[in-house]
Amino acid sequence: AQLDTLDLAVLVVLLVGSVAYFTKGTYWAVPKDPYASSGAALNGGAKSGKTRDIIEKMDETGKNCVIFYGSQTGTAEDYASRLAKEGSQRFGLKTMVADIEDYDYENLDKFPDDKVAFFVLATYGEGEPTDNAVEFYQFLTSEDVAFESGAAADDSPLSSLKYVAFGLGNNTYEHYNSMVRHVDAALTKLGAQRIGAAGEGDDGAGTMEEDFLAWKEPMWVALSESLGLQERESVYEPVFCVSEDEEKTPEDDSVYLGEPTTAHREGRAKGPYSAHNPYIAPIGESRELFTVKDRNCLHMEIDISDSNLSYQTGDHIAIWPTNAGAEVDRFLQVFGLENKRHSVISIKGIDVTAKVPIPTPTTYDAAVRYYMEACAPVSRQFVSSLAAFAPDEASKAEIVRLGSDKDYFHEKITSQCFNIAQALQSITSQTFSAVPFSLLIEGLNKLQPRYYSISSSSLVQKNKISITAVVESVRLPGASHMVKGVTTNYLLALKQKQNGDPSPDPHGLTYAISGPRNKYDGIHVPVHVRHSNFKLPSDPSKPIIMVGPGTGVAPFRGFIQERAALAAKGENVGTTVLFFGCRKQDEDFIYQDEFKTYQDQLGDKLKIITAFSREGSQKVYVQHRLKENAPLVSELLKQKANFYVCGDAANMAREVNLVLGHIIAEQRGYPAEKGEEMVKHMRSSGSYQEDVW
Ligand code: FAD
Repeated sequence: AQLDTLDLAVLVVLLVGSVAYFTKGTYWAVPKDPYASSGAALNGGAKSGKTRDIIEKMDETGKNCVIFYGSQTGTAEDYASRLAKEGSQRFGLKTMVADIEDYDYENLDKFPDDKVAFFVLATYGEGEPTDNAVEFYQFLTSEDVAFESGAAADDSPLSSLKYVAFGLGNNTYEHYNSMVRHVDAALTKLGAQRIGAAGEGDDGAGTMEEDFLAWKEPMWVALSESLGLQERESVYEPVFCVSEDEEKTPEDDSVYLGEPTTAHREGRAKGPYSAHNPYIAPIGESRELFTVKDRNCLHMEIDISDSNLSYQTGDHIAIWPTNAGAEVDRFLQVFGLENKRHSVISIKGIDVTAKVPIPTPTTYDAAVRYYMEACAPVSRQFVSSLAAFAPDEASKAEIVRLGSDKDYFHEKITSQCFNIAQALQSITSQTFSAVPFSLLIEGLNKLQPRYYSISSSSLVQKNKISITAVVESVRLPGASHMVKGVTTNYLLALKQKQNGDPSPDPHGLTYAISGPRNKYDGIHVPVHVRHSNFKLPSDPSKPIIMVGPGTGVAPFRGFIQERAALAAKGENVGTTVLFFGCRKQDEDFIYQDEFKTYQDQLGDKLKIITAFSREGSQKVYVQHRLKENAPLVSELLKQKANFYVCGDAANMAREVNLVLGHIIAEQRGYPAEKGEEMVKHMRSSGSYQEDVW
C-alpha cells in the first residue's frame, strides 16, 4: 500500500527529529581516509588542498561550528556526527566534524567568538587520550602552552573560544572520563568559555546513550542562548548521494569489491602497515583449544614475516572482519537489493565536508559485506527512522509504535538481539525497498576491526603473532536466536577451511573466505598491530603476578613464553605467578599442555594457580584463589612484583582490584582505605597494569 501525503509529511518530520539523534556513521568529517591519498575520488567535491588551519577551513567552507572528536573505536566519532547533523537540522548551524589530529591547535586563540568548537573525547585505557588525540592533549595540558598570539596562560589567551564538551568513559576504569575532565579544566584555565555542562557518558554502567541524550538537550538550550540560535522544524536531507552506475561492472578495476584501500584494490599495497593500511597476512596455523563441541576457542598464528610489521610482547593485533554471507543475504533481501547486489554504486557526500565512510565506487554486496556493521544491535531511533519508508501501513504503524515505546522496543527487538535486517523481518515479510541507501550508510557504523591481545612473545616468535580468541556465540535468555560474533565466527570459518574441516562454514554462515578478487585466498586476513603499555618489567628477575581467566590468559601465554626463553638462555628470571580460571580442567583449560613445558623450563619459578568454576559444589573464581594466596601475593609485592590483570573488565577486573586492596591491608595490618590507596598508587606507578575489554 502507498503512504498518503499527510502520513508521509508527518513521518518525514518524525524521521528528521529522530535521525538527528541517532544516525551513526562518519559523515561531515574532514577527509582522512586511506582512499583519498591514493587518488580515489571520495569526497564529492571536498576542497583538495588539506589545510591544518581550522579557522581557515571553516571560513573556506562557510562553517560556524566544528565538532572535534578523539575516538578509538568509532563511538566518539559517531556522536560527533550526530551532533553535527542535529546542530544543522534543528538549529541551522553550519557544522563540520573534524578528526582532532587533522588540525593544529596553536591558533585556537584566534577562534572567532561567533563560532563554536565542540570536543567529543573518549578516554582510553588507563585514563589516556585516544591515539588521535594524544598530541592535542599534550599541547593543551603542557606547562608552557603557547598560542600564536604569544599570550601567557594567565592572560586567558582563549577568551574568545566558545566550546562544548562531552566525554566518553567507563567507570570500571580508575581514571573515569579523565580526558574530557582534563581538557575541560585546561580550556577553562586558558580563559575559554564552556557552553552548557561538560557531559560524561558511562559505558561501564551501560548508560552511554542515555547520558548523551540527557546531556545534549540543556546544552542545545545554552548554545542557542549564547549564539542567538533559533530552533526550527528540521527537514531530513540525505547526507550522501548514492547513484547506480550502469556503465560500470564489478569487474572494472576501479570498483572496490571489499579492498580496504586503493592500493589494495590496485594490488600494490605496501608498508608501512597501520590502522589505515592493513596487511593482508597469511594465517600460518590455526587450531582449536577447547575440547568440548559446543564452544570454540581459536589459536591462530599470523605470519608477519613479509610485512615489516613488528610487535612487542603485550601488544594488540587488530583483525579486519568480513560479515557472514547469510547476514549479507538477509540484509540485501530485506532492503530489496538482492537482485542488484552486484550493481556498481557511486557514493558522494552532498556537503563539501561530508566524508564518505565507504570506498566508492563499490557494489551493494561489497558495501554490506566488507564496509558496514550490518550485524550490530540496533537503536530504537534508527528503526523508527525507517517508518517513512515502510512497505505497508501495518508495518509502518508497528515501527512507529516501536519508535515511541521504549519498553515495547526492548521486548520485541533488543531482548531478541536482532540486527537491523532481523528486526525488520520480525515486523513484516515485505521488503523495505524504499529505504534510501544513504540512510543505511548514515545509520550503521562502518565495520570496525576487532582487537586481540597478542598471545605470543616477540622474543620467541618475532614473525608470528599468536592470537587466542573465544568464538562469540551467545543466546541471551528469552532470545529466539543465537548472536554470532562477526569476527570470531569469520576466524572460525578461516580455521575450518585451513584445516579442511568437512563444513568450512560454521552454522551455515557462508563467508567469502577468498576475499575481494580472491586476494585473501590461501587463508589470509587483514590485520594491523597496535602497540600497548601492557608490558613485562624490563628486568626479568622482577617477580610478576598475572591474573587472566579464560581468554584473559592470552598475553600471559606470551609473558610466560618469553620468561621460559630467557631462563633457557640462562637469565635470572623472577617468580612468575599465573592465576588462571575456566569452567573445567578437561574442557577449557587452554594451553594446559604447553604450560607443562614452560613449567619444566622455569621450574619452581613458575606457579600456575587454577580456579575451575564448574567442578565443585561451589563456584571458584580467580579472585577466590587470589585471596587464598594472600601471603604469597603480599610477599611478592614487597619484592616489587608487577601485578597484571587481563580479560573481563566489567566484573573480574573490578573484583581483583578490590581483593588486592584487601590483601594488602590485611597482610600488612593497614586499614582498608590504605590498601585501596596502595593499589591506586601501584596503578599510577605502572606496577598494576590492566588489559581488559
Ligand atoms: P561482535 O560481532 O563484535 O559481537 C560482540 C558481542 O556483542 C556479542 O557477543 C554480543 O554479546 C553482542 N552483540 C553483537 N551483535 C548483537 C546483536 N545484534 N544484538 C545484541 N547483541 C549483539 N577477545 C578474545 O577472545 N581474545 C583476546 O585476546 C581479546 N583481546 C582483546 C583486547 C582488547 C584491547 C580489546 C578491546 C578486546 C579484546 N578482545 C579479545 C575482544 C575482541 O576484540 C572482540 O570484541 C570479540 O572477539 C568479539 O568480536 P566479534 O566480532 O566476534 O563479536
